[in-house]
Amino acid sequence: MNVAILAIGNEVLSGKTINTNSAFIAKQIEQLGGKVTHQQVVPDNEDEIVRGLQTAYEYAEMVITIGGLGPTVDDLSRDGVARYFKTELVFDEGIYEGICDYFKRSKKNIPFNNQRQAFRFKEGLVLPNHNGTAPGLFLSQDNQSVFLLPGPPAELELMFLESVKPYLVEKIGERKISKSYRLCGIGESYAEEMILHLYDRYPHLNIAPYCAPDKVDYIVSTMDGYESELENFDQEFKELMKDYYIGNQETDLAEVIVTLLQEKRLKIATAESSTGGLLSSALVNVSGASSVFLEGVVTYSYESKLNRLNIDKKRLMEFGAVSEEIASDMAVNLAKLTGADITIGITEIAGPNGGSETKPVGLVYIAIYVCGQIHLKSYIFNGNREKIRQRTVAEGLYWLHYYIKAL
Ligand code: ATP
Repeated sequence: MNVAILAIGNEVLSGKTINTNSAFIAKQIEQLGGKVTHQQVVPDNEDEIVRGLQTAYEYAEMVITIGGLGPTVDDLSRDGVARYFKTELVFDEGIYEGICDYFKRSKKNIPFNNQRQAFRFKEGLVLPNHNGTAPGLFLSQDNQSVFLLPGPPAELELMFLESVKPYLVEKIGERKISKSYRLCGIGESYAEEMILHLYDRYPHLNIAPYCAPDKVDYIVSTMDGYESELENFDQEFKELMKDYYIGNQETDLAEVIVTLLQEKRLKIATAESSTGGLLSSALVNVSGASSVFLEGVVTYSYESKLNRLNIDKKRLMEFGAVSEEIASDMAVNLAKLTGADITIGITEIAGPNGGSETKPVGLVYIAIYVCGQIHLKSYIFNGNREKIRQRTVAEGLYWLHYYIKAL
Protein backbone atom coordinates (compact mmCIF):
# COMPACT_ATOMS: atom_id res chain seq x y z
CA MET A 1 0.00 0.00 0.00
CA ASN A 2 1.29 3.44 -0.95
CA VAL A 3 0.89 6.18 1.64
CA ALA A 4 1.47 9.94 1.41
CA ILE A 5 2.04 12.12 4.46
CA LEU A 6 0.69 15.66 4.46
CA ALA A 7 1.94 17.79 7.35
CA ILE A 8 -0.16 20.90 7.84
CA GLY A 9 1.03 23.97 9.71
CA ASN A 10 2.84 27.27 9.24
CA GLU A 11 5.21 26.46 12.10
CA VAL A 12 6.34 23.26 10.37
CA LEU A 13 6.72 25.04 7.05
CA SER A 14 8.87 27.76 8.62
CA GLY A 15 11.09 25.25 10.42
CA LYS A 16 10.04 26.44 13.91
CA THR A 17 8.62 22.97 14.54
CA ILE A 18 10.75 20.07 13.38
CA ASN A 19 8.63 17.62 11.43
CA THR A 20 9.22 14.65 13.72
CA ASN A 21 5.66 13.38 13.19
CA SER A 22 6.26 12.63 9.51
CA ALA A 23 9.44 10.76 10.40
CA PHE A 24 7.59 8.75 13.04
CA ILE A 25 4.77 7.81 10.67
CA ALA A 26 7.11 7.01 7.77
CA LYS A 27 9.21 4.69 9.94
CA GLN A 28 6.14 2.93 11.26
CA ILE A 29 4.70 2.39 7.78
CA GLU A 30 8.00 1.08 6.41
CA GLN A 31 8.18 -1.35 9.33
CA LEU A 32 4.69 -2.58 8.56
CA GLY A 33 5.62 -3.28 4.95
CA GLY A 34 3.82 -0.28 3.45
CA LYS A 35 5.51 2.31 1.27
CA VAL A 36 5.66 6.05 1.87
CA THR A 37 5.73 7.44 -1.65
CA HIS A 38 5.27 11.13 -0.95
CA GLN A 39 5.64 13.74 1.80
CA GLN A 40 4.53 17.36 1.81
CA VAL A 41 4.23 20.29 4.18
CA VAL A 42 1.49 22.86 3.51
CA PRO A 43 0.47 26.03 5.38
CA ASP A 44 -2.65 26.52 7.52
CA ASN A 45 -4.71 27.48 4.49
CA GLU A 46 -7.75 25.62 3.21
CA ASP A 47 -6.93 26.06 -0.50
CA GLU A 48 -3.40 24.80 0.09
CA ILE A 49 -4.69 21.79 2.01
CA VAL A 50 -6.98 20.88 -0.90
CA ARG A 51 -4.10 21.33 -3.36
CA GLY A 52 -1.86 19.28 -1.10
CA LEU A 53 -4.40 16.44 -1.12
CA GLN A 54 -4.72 16.55 -4.91
CA THR A 55 -0.97 16.18 -5.26
CA ALA A 56 -0.72 13.53 -2.56
CA TYR A 57 -3.29 11.29 -4.25
CA GLU A 58 -1.18 11.32 -7.41
CA TYR A 59 1.34 9.30 -5.43
CA ALA A 60 -0.71 7.21 -3.04
CA GLU A 61 -4.11 5.77 -2.33
CA MET A 62 -3.93 6.71 1.32
CA VAL A 63 -3.04 10.10 2.83
CA ILE A 64 -2.24 10.77 6.47
CA THR A 65 -2.58 14.41 7.46
CA ILE A 66 -0.85 15.84 10.52
CA GLY A 67 -2.05 18.80 12.58
CA GLY A 68 -4.69 21.44 12.07
CA LEU A 69 -7.28 19.66 14.21
CA GLY A 70 -7.09 22.16 17.07
CA PRO A 71 -9.74 24.62 18.20
CA THR A 72 -8.42 27.80 16.56
CA VAL A 73 -9.44 29.43 13.28
CA ASP A 74 -6.19 28.40 11.62
CA ASP A 75 -6.94 24.70 12.25
CA LEU A 76 -8.40 23.86 8.87
CA SER A 77 -7.64 20.19 8.16
CA ARG A 78 -11.22 19.05 8.63
CA ASP A 79 -12.50 21.79 6.29
CA GLY A 80 -9.87 21.11 3.62
CA VAL A 81 -10.49 17.37 3.59
CA ALA A 82 -14.29 17.82 3.58
CA ARG A 83 -13.96 20.11 0.54
CA TYR A 84 -11.65 17.72 -1.29
CA PHE A 85 -14.02 14.77 -0.73
CA LYS A 86 -17.10 16.93 -1.32
CA THR A 87 -18.58 15.86 1.96
CA GLU A 88 -20.15 17.62 4.92
CA LEU A 89 -18.91 18.25 8.43
CA VAL A 90 -21.48 17.52 11.13
CA PHE A 91 -21.51 18.35 14.82
CA ASP A 92 -21.16 15.18 16.90
CA GLU A 93 -22.67 15.23 20.42
CA GLY A 94 -20.59 12.21 21.46
CA ILE A 95 -17.30 13.90 20.54
CA TYR A 96 -18.41 17.07 22.30
CA GLU A 97 -19.21 15.18 25.49
CA GLY A 98 -15.76 13.56 25.35
CA ILE A 99 -14.12 16.99 25.04
CA CYS A 100 -16.24 18.32 27.94
CA ASP A 101 -15.17 15.36 30.08
CA TYR A 102 -11.53 16.04 29.22
CA PHE A 103 -11.87 19.62 30.52
CA LYS A 104 -13.90 18.51 33.56
CA ARG A 105 -11.12 16.10 34.57
CA SER A 106 -8.70 19.06 34.60
CA LYS A 107 -11.36 21.12 36.47
CA LYS A 108 -11.52 23.69 33.67
CA ASN A 109 -14.42 25.22 31.77
CA ILE A 110 -14.59 24.24 28.15
CA PRO A 111 -13.61 27.17 25.92
CA PHE A 112 -16.20 28.03 23.25
CA ASN A 113 -13.64 27.41 20.45
CA ASN A 114 -13.26 23.77 21.37
CA GLN A 115 -16.69 23.12 19.90
CA ARG A 116 -14.93 23.21 16.52
CA GLN A 117 -13.21 19.97 17.43
CA ALA A 118 -16.56 18.18 17.79
CA PHE A 119 -17.16 18.25 14.03
CA ARG A 120 -16.65 15.08 12.03
CA PHE A 121 -17.29 13.96 8.48
CA LYS A 122 -20.85 12.88 7.79
CA GLU A 123 -19.46 9.48 6.77
CA GLY A 124 -16.27 7.92 8.13
CA LEU A 125 -14.87 7.18 11.55
CA VAL A 126 -13.82 9.07 14.64
CA LEU A 127 -10.50 8.06 16.25
CA PRO A 128 -10.26 8.53 20.02
CA ASN A 129 -7.54 10.81 21.37
CA HIS A 130 -6.39 9.52 24.76
CA ASN A 131 -3.76 12.24 25.14
CA GLY A 132 -5.72 15.34 24.17
CA THR A 133 -9.01 16.84 23.04
CA ALA A 134 -9.00 16.68 19.23
CA PRO A 135 -10.20 13.31 17.98
CA GLY A 136 -8.71 11.97 14.77
CA LEU A 137 -10.87 11.27 11.75
CA PHE A 138 -10.93 8.69 8.97
CA LEU A 139 -12.68 8.84 5.63
CA SER A 140 -12.63 6.53 2.64
CA GLN A 141 -14.21 7.12 -0.78
CA ASP A 142 -13.60 5.64 -4.23
CA ASN A 143 -10.26 3.98 -3.44
CA GLN A 144 -8.95 7.05 -1.68
CA SER A 145 -8.70 7.16 2.09
CA VAL A 146 -7.45 9.68 4.59
CA PHE A 147 -6.52 9.68 8.26
CA LEU A 148 -6.48 13.06 10.03
CA LEU A 149 -4.19 13.02 13.06
CA PRO A 150 -3.47 15.79 15.58
CA GLY A 151 -0.15 17.71 15.61
CA PRO A 152 1.16 17.22 19.18
CA PRO A 153 3.51 14.21 18.92
CA ALA A 154 2.24 12.49 22.09
CA GLU A 155 -1.32 12.60 20.74
CA LEU A 156 -0.35 11.61 17.21
CA GLU A 157 1.86 8.69 18.19
CA LEU A 158 -0.68 7.07 20.48
CA MET A 159 -3.47 7.56 17.94
CA PHE A 160 -1.34 6.10 15.17
CA LEU A 161 -0.52 3.00 17.21
CA GLU A 162 -4.08 2.53 18.44
CA SER A 163 -6.12 3.36 15.35
CA VAL A 164 -4.03 3.64 12.19
CA LYS A 165 -1.64 0.74 12.65
CA PRO A 166 -4.29 -1.99 13.03
CA TYR A 167 -6.01 -0.70 9.87
CA LEU A 168 -2.75 -0.74 7.92
CA VAL A 169 -1.77 -4.19 9.17
CA GLU A 170 -5.05 -5.54 7.83
CA LYS A 171 -4.79 -3.66 4.51
CA ILE A 172 -1.17 -4.54 3.84
CA GLY A 173 -1.93 -8.16 4.62
CA GLU A 174 1.65 -9.33 4.56
CA ARG A 175 3.81 -9.15 7.61
CA LYS A 176 7.17 -7.53 7.23
CA ILE A 177 10.06 -9.06 9.16
CA SER A 178 13.35 -7.38 9.83
CA LYS A 179 16.58 -7.46 11.75
CA SER A 180 18.86 -4.60 12.63
CA TYR A 181 22.59 -4.42 13.21
CA ARG A 182 24.76 -1.73 14.78
CA LEU A 183 28.39 -1.48 13.70
CA CYS A 184 30.98 0.65 15.50
CA GLY A 185 34.60 1.34 14.55
CA ILE A 186 33.97 1.17 10.82
CA GLY A 187 32.83 3.78 8.31
CA GLU A 188 29.89 3.38 5.94
CA SER A 189 32.02 2.95 2.79
CA TYR A 190 34.23 0.25 4.31
CA ALA A 191 31.23 -1.57 5.69
CA GLU A 192 29.53 -1.43 2.30
CA GLU A 193 32.63 -2.79 0.56
CA MET A 194 32.71 -5.72 2.94
CA ILE A 195 29.12 -6.73 2.32
CA LEU A 196 28.66 -5.78 -1.33
CA HIS A 197 28.48 -9.44 -2.43
CA LEU A 198 25.59 -10.08 0.00
CA TYR A 199 23.21 -7.89 -1.99
CA ASP A 200 23.25 -10.41 -4.88
CA ARG A 201 23.34 -13.44 -2.64
CA TYR A 202 20.16 -12.42 -0.79
CA PRO A 203 17.90 -10.98 -3.51
CA HIS A 204 14.72 -10.96 -1.41
CA LEU A 205 16.18 -8.85 1.36
CA ASN A 206 16.10 -5.10 1.50
CA ILE A 207 19.47 -4.13 3.00
CA ALA A 208 19.48 -0.50 4.11
CA PRO A 209 22.44 1.26 5.76
CA TYR A 210 22.00 4.30 8.02
CA CYS A 211 25.18 6.06 9.00
CA ALA A 212 26.06 8.45 11.83
CA PRO A 213 29.51 9.79 12.83
CA ASP A 214 29.96 7.11 15.48
CA LYS A 215 28.12 4.14 13.99
CA VAL A 216 26.62 2.47 10.95
CA ASP A 217 23.26 0.76 11.34
CA TYR A 218 21.89 -1.78 8.90
CA ILE A 219 18.20 -2.58 8.77
CA VAL A 220 17.51 -5.68 6.76
CA SER A 221 13.90 -6.50 5.98
CA THR A 222 11.82 -8.87 3.92
CA MET A 223 8.33 -10.27 3.68
CA ASP A 224 6.80 -13.37 5.20
CA GLY A 225 8.12 -16.49 3.52
CA TYR A 226 11.76 -15.42 3.36
CA GLU A 227 12.61 -16.10 7.01
CA SER A 228 15.35 -18.60 6.17
CA GLU A 229 17.01 -16.17 3.76
CA LEU A 230 17.04 -13.60 6.56
CA GLU A 231 18.45 -16.13 9.04
CA ASN A 232 21.26 -17.11 6.64
CA PHE A 233 22.06 -13.46 6.03
CA ASP A 234 22.08 -12.87 9.77
CA GLN A 235 24.73 -15.52 10.37
CA GLU A 236 26.89 -14.46 7.46
CA PHE A 237 26.66 -10.74 8.28
CA LYS A 238 27.54 -11.23 11.94
CA GLU A 239 30.53 -13.43 11.03
CA LEU A 240 31.79 -10.92 8.43
CA MET A 241 31.35 -7.98 10.81
CA LYS A 242 32.37 -9.69 14.02
CA ASP A 243 34.97 -7.01 14.83
CA TYR A 244 32.41 -4.23 14.46
CA TYR A 245 29.01 -5.68 15.32
CA ILE A 246 27.84 -4.62 18.79
CA GLY A 247 24.14 -5.56 18.73
CA ASN A 248 20.89 -4.38 17.18
CA GLN A 249 20.16 -0.76 16.32
CA GLU A 250 19.03 0.02 19.87
CA THR A 251 22.41 -0.97 21.32
CA ASP A 252 24.46 1.68 23.08
CA LEU A 253 28.20 0.99 22.92
CA ALA A 254 28.89 2.53 26.34
CA GLU A 255 26.20 0.30 27.82
CA VAL A 256 27.79 -2.79 26.27
CA ILE A 257 31.16 -1.77 27.72
CA VAL A 258 29.74 -1.28 31.22
CA THR A 259 27.96 -4.64 31.04
CA LEU A 260 31.14 -6.40 29.88
CA LEU A 261 33.13 -4.78 32.70
CA GLN A 262 30.49 -5.89 35.21
CA GLU A 263 30.48 -9.44 33.87
CA LYS A 264 34.27 -9.63 33.92
CA ARG A 265 34.52 -7.83 37.27
CA LEU A 266 36.88 -5.18 35.92
CA LYS A 267 37.30 -1.51 36.82
CA ILE A 268 37.93 1.33 34.44
CA ALA A 269 39.35 4.87 34.69
CA THR A 270 39.74 7.51 31.98
CA ALA A 271 42.20 10.33 31.30
CA GLU A 272 41.13 12.79 28.64
CA SER A 273 42.40 16.03 27.23
CA SER A 274 40.50 17.94 24.50
CA THR A 275 37.57 15.54 24.64
CA GLY A 276 36.94 17.20 28.02
CA GLY A 277 35.22 14.27 29.69
CA LEU A 278 32.97 13.28 26.78
CA LEU A 279 34.14 9.68 26.96
CA SER A 280 33.74 9.41 30.72
CA SER A 281 30.34 11.06 30.38
CA ALA A 282 29.24 8.37 27.88
CA LEU A 283 30.18 5.69 30.41
CA VAL A 284 28.63 7.48 33.39
CA ASN A 285 25.47 7.96 31.36
CA VAL A 286 24.89 4.23 31.76
CA SER A 287 22.89 3.49 34.87
CA GLY A 288 24.87 1.24 37.23
CA ALA A 289 28.24 2.42 35.87
CA SER A 290 29.44 3.22 39.40
CA SER A 291 30.11 -0.49 39.91
CA VAL A 292 32.86 -0.38 37.28
CA PHE A 293 33.81 3.25 36.69
CA LEU A 294 36.45 4.40 39.19
CA GLU A 295 37.19 7.90 37.96
CA GLY A 296 37.71 10.16 34.99
CA VAL A 297 40.19 13.03 34.84
CA VAL A 298 40.40 15.81 32.28
CA THR A 299 44.08 16.67 32.17
CA TYR A 300 43.82 19.40 29.60
CA SER A 301 46.80 21.52 30.63
CA TYR A 302 50.50 20.64 30.92
CA GLU A 303 50.23 21.33 34.67
CA SER A 304 47.43 18.87 35.20
CA LYS A 305 49.24 16.20 33.20
CA LEU A 306 52.24 16.71 35.49
CA ASN A 307 50.33 17.08 38.75
CA ARG A 308 47.36 14.74 38.38
CA LEU A 309 48.94 12.00 36.32
CA ASN A 310 52.62 12.31 37.35
CA ILE A 311 53.70 12.56 33.73
CA ASP A 312 57.45 12.98 33.54
CA LYS A 313 58.25 16.60 32.70
CA LYS A 314 61.24 15.67 30.55
CA ARG A 315 59.14 13.27 28.47
CA LEU A 316 56.36 15.83 28.16
CA MET A 317 58.86 18.40 26.83
CA GLU A 318 60.58 15.88 24.57
CA PHE A 319 57.51 14.33 22.93
CA GLY A 320 54.89 17.02 23.40
CA ALA A 321 51.45 16.64 25.00
CA VAL A 322 49.97 15.20 21.82
CA SER A 323 52.12 12.16 21.27
CA GLU A 324 51.97 8.41 21.42
CA GLU A 325 54.33 8.44 24.39
CA ILE A 326 52.26 10.84 26.49
CA ALA A 327 48.95 9.13 25.66
CA SER A 328 50.58 5.90 26.81
CA ASP A 329 51.99 7.51 29.99
CA MET A 330 48.54 8.93 30.77
CA ALA A 331 46.95 5.49 30.60
CA VAL A 332 49.74 3.66 32.46
CA ASN A 333 50.07 6.26 35.23
CA LEU A 334 46.29 6.41 35.67
CA ALA A 335 46.23 2.65 36.14
CA LYS A 336 48.93 2.95 38.82
CA LEU A 337 47.18 5.83 40.57
CA THR A 338 43.70 4.32 40.60
CA GLY A 339 44.30 0.58 40.55
CA ALA A 340 41.97 0.26 37.54
CA ASP A 341 42.27 -2.83 35.34
CA ILE A 342 41.47 -0.85 32.21
CA THR A 343 42.39 2.74 31.52
CA ILE A 344 42.34 4.98 28.49
CA GLY A 345 44.53 8.00 27.78
CA ILE A 346 43.48 10.35 25.01
CA THR A 347 45.38 13.31 23.70
CA GLU A 348 44.64 15.23 20.50
CA ILE A 349 44.79 18.47 18.57
CA ALA A 350 41.11 19.29 18.20
CA GLY A 351 41.79 22.62 16.47
CA PRO A 352 41.05 24.93 14.91
CA ASN A 353 44.39 26.27 16.25
CA GLY A 354 47.43 24.48 17.59
CA GLY A 355 48.29 22.36 14.55
CA SER A 356 51.69 22.23 12.85
CA GLU A 357 53.15 20.47 9.83
CA THR A 358 54.25 17.47 11.85
CA LYS A 359 51.27 17.53 14.18
CA PRO A 360 48.22 18.69 12.21
CA VAL A 361 44.78 19.55 13.55
CA GLY A 362 42.86 16.31 13.94
CA LEU A 363 45.86 14.32 15.16
CA VAL A 364 44.69 11.94 17.88
CA TYR A 365 46.48 9.43 20.07
CA ILE A 366 44.54 6.90 22.09
CA ALA A 367 46.27 4.56 24.51
CA ILE A 368 44.37 1.70 26.05
CA TYR A 369 45.84 -0.05 29.04
CA VAL A 370 44.40 -3.51 29.53
CA CYS A 371 45.56 -5.48 32.56
CA GLY A 372 49.25 -4.64 32.14
CA GLN A 373 49.33 -4.30 28.34
CA ILE A 374 49.23 -1.08 26.38
CA HIS A 375 47.62 -0.68 22.93
CA LEU A 376 48.17 2.46 20.90
CA LYS A 377 46.05 3.97 18.15
CA SER A 378 46.63 7.12 16.15
CA TYR A 379 44.41 8.98 13.71
CA ILE A 380 44.20 12.17 11.74
CA PHE A 381 40.54 13.18 11.64
CA ASN A 382 39.03 15.78 9.35
CA GLY A 383 36.31 18.19 10.36
CA ASN A 384 35.73 20.93 12.88
CA ARG A 385 36.55 20.80 16.59
CA GLU A 386 33.21 19.26 17.53
CA LYS A 387 33.46 16.52 14.91
CA ILE A 388 37.07 15.68 15.80
CA ARG A 389 36.15 15.39 19.49
CA GLN A 390 33.11 13.20 18.71
CA ARG A 391 35.07 10.88 16.44
CA THR A 392 37.82 10.56 19.03
CA VAL A 393 35.31 9.47 21.66
CA ALA A 394 33.70 7.04 19.21
CA GLU A 395 37.09 5.43 18.48
CA GLY A 396 38.01 5.38 22.16
CA LEU A 397 34.80 3.55 23.02
CA TYR A 398 35.22 1.20 20.09
CA TRP A 399 38.72 0.12 21.16
CA LEU A 400 37.72 -0.20 24.79
CA HIS A 401 34.93 -2.54 23.70
CA TYR A 402 37.28 -4.45 21.38
CA TYR A 403 39.90 -5.18 24.04
CA ILE A 404 37.52 -5.78 26.93
CA LYS A 405 35.50 -8.24 24.83
CA ALA A 406 38.68 -10.13 23.98
CA LEU A 407 39.66 -10.66 27.63
P1 ATP B 1 -3.76 21.47 18.84
O1 ATP B 1 -5.07 20.95 19.29
O2 ATP B 1 -2.69 21.39 19.90
O3 ATP B 1 -3.85 22.84 18.16
P2 ATP B 1 -3.47 20.43 16.15
O4 ATP B 1 -3.88 19.10 15.68
O5 ATP B 1 -4.23 21.60 15.66
O6 ATP B 1 -3.29 20.41 17.71
P3 ATP B 1 -1.24 21.93 15.37
O7 ATP B 1 -1.91 23.13 16.01
O8 ATP B 1 -1.00 21.95 13.92
O9 ATP B 1 -2.00 20.61 15.69
O10 ATP B 1 0.09 21.63 16.16
C1 ATP B 1 0.12 21.56 17.56
C2 ATP B 1 1.55 21.38 18.01
O11 ATP B 1 1.97 20.08 17.57
C3 ATP B 1 2.55 22.33 17.34
O12 ATP B 1 2.77 23.48 18.06
C4 ATP B 1 3.80 21.49 17.33
O13 ATP B 1 4.48 21.63 18.55
C5 ATP B 1 3.31 20.09 17.17
N1 ATP B 1 3.39 19.66 15.77
C6 ATP B 1 2.54 19.99 14.76
N2 ATP B 1 2.92 19.39 13.62
C7 ATP B 1 4.02 18.69 13.90
C8 ATP B 1 4.89 17.85 13.12
N3 ATP B 1 4.67 17.64 11.83
N4 ATP B 1 5.93 17.27 13.75
C9 ATP B 1 6.14 17.49 15.08
N5 ATP B 1 5.38 18.25 15.85
C10 ATP B 1 4.33 18.87 15.28
